[in-house]
Amino acid sequence: EIRVRFAPSPTGPLHIGGVRTALYNYLFAKHNNGKFLLRIEDTDQTRFVPGAEEYIRESLSWLGITPDEGEGFGGPYGPYKQSERSEIYREYVTKLIEEDKAYYAFDTAEELEEMRERLKAARVVSQTYNALTRGTMKNSLTLSPEEVKQRMDSGDPYVVRLKVPRKEDIRFKDAVRDWVLVNTDTLDDKVLLKSDGLPTYHLANVVDDHLMKITHVIRGEEWLPSAPIHVLLYQFLGWDAPEFCHLPLLLKPDGNGKLSKRDGDKHGYPVFPLDWKDPQSGNLTMGFREQGYLPEAMVNFLAFLGWNPGDNRELFTLEELEKEFTLPRIGKSGAKFDINKAKWFNQQYLKNTPNERLAETLLADLEEAGLETDAVKANKVCEALKERVTFPKDFWETGKYFFVTPEVYDEKTVKKKWTAEAVGVLTAYKEALENFEGDFTQDVAKETLNDVLEAQGVKIGRIMQALRVAVSGQGSGADLMFTLEILGNATVAQRIGLAIE
Ligand code: GLU
Repeated sequence: EIRVRFAPSPTGPLHIGGVRTALYNYLFAKHNNGKFLLRIEDTDQTRFVPGAEEYIRESLSWLGITPDEGEGFGGPYGPYKQSERSEIYREYVTKLIEEDKAYYAFDTAEELEEMRERLKAARVVSQTYNALTRGTMKNSLTLSPEEVKQRMDSGDPYVVRLKVPRKEDIRFKDAVRDWVLVNTDTLDDKVLLKSDGLPTYHLANVVDDHLMKITHVIRGEEWLPSAPIHVLLYQFLGWDAPEFCHLPLLLKPDGNGKLSKRDGDKHGYPVFPLDWKDPQSGNLTMGFREQGYLPEAMVNFLAFLGWNPGDNRELFTLEELEKEFTLPRIGKSGAKFDINKAKWFNQQYLKNTPNERLAETLLADLEEAGLETDAVKANKVCEALKERVTFPKDFWETGKYFFVTPEVYDEKTVKKKWTAEAVGVLTAYKEALENFEGDFTQDVAKETLNDVLEAQGVKIGRIMQALRVAVSGQGSGADLMFTLEILGNATVAQRIGLAIE
């Protein structure tokens, strides 16, 4: 059985890259009838942010990519939160030490700093604590067993480090990068257990992926440098490594460098998908959801940040993506984060969304503005405008004139189109509408207007803009006859009257 996991650290709001990782894991699991797990990697207590875990779950469920198993969802391989698994990690640390694959290290912060300086002076910068230097440091490889015991008994702080072998090639196959080859001389003896007794990411990640029977590790490219360490750990623990798949970086909109959280402010959009209160300032970070992105649009947009179906189709529902998503179709090169593309997707989904659902936002906006909330009218307004807007909030922002009598009239239109001829037609049309009784549909609106035009011998094109500006105040907008129907004959007559005055 295929089993994949999304393993975020609860250190703040989910970055858009994290959401994409979650989605790809979900799609891969569904495509293969497998399981999608959520594991919370909270071993770094210093970076823990309260509420972040709930936020992660809420983001996933908003997008419709709910885990099958994991923290908050249950399952046979729990606990799924690393802070509750300390005992488990200790067992494997002990085993590694006993087998001479890891060692205790007692170096103080000053000693480590000294070493770093020494290496810097010698122009060795990439590694600090490895097969070459560990012999000069304070650890269980250089100290006698008595010394080690004595330091431990007296409560000296210590860490456990991985004993990375010298000059060995580590190779592993990545679904995106193909074969990756790394020499152990480029690797540090990574810390496995910290002085607070908690494991590091490397150890906890490997132990958990093994115990939770993860078959494929799908994660961001920023974790690629960690993969050789993980491969080594799998070897040392006598386990088969899962398959790796490192997803291409997300790039800034201009393609210059990595997308960062700060790009949210800089480019006028937030990178976070959900509202998030900064714990220090208490400020709410606007998210995609609050901006009015539909979850279906987000899913479609995110899917294309690094994946494509191999042809030029672009619109995919979650179910369609589940059917088509495979790892070989993931690209190697970084994916540009283009907010205009996100808006385009949103508009595609918005125009196919039932009016009732779109009208929810409009009705809330009307209520906030202290206006009458007529659901039938709201539905019609959404119908009239849905091809023209990007976000649900635009219905109110661009369609105010459906609910409020215009006070100003688009100057340009008035200047060009407010002719004596137009005023003549509008005056007669107003009278006809005042006396109209019955069901005022767009067809009726049109027939009535045609009668007036015929009587006055005027072509419709010569008065359309004047009629539009009279009823809406604007030079452009939704289909005019449908607009008249939505406003109703009485309102149209009244507005024409005000405009003519
Ligand atoms: N906890 C890591 C993160 O925050 C997980 C990386 C991985 O998937 O191995 O992204």
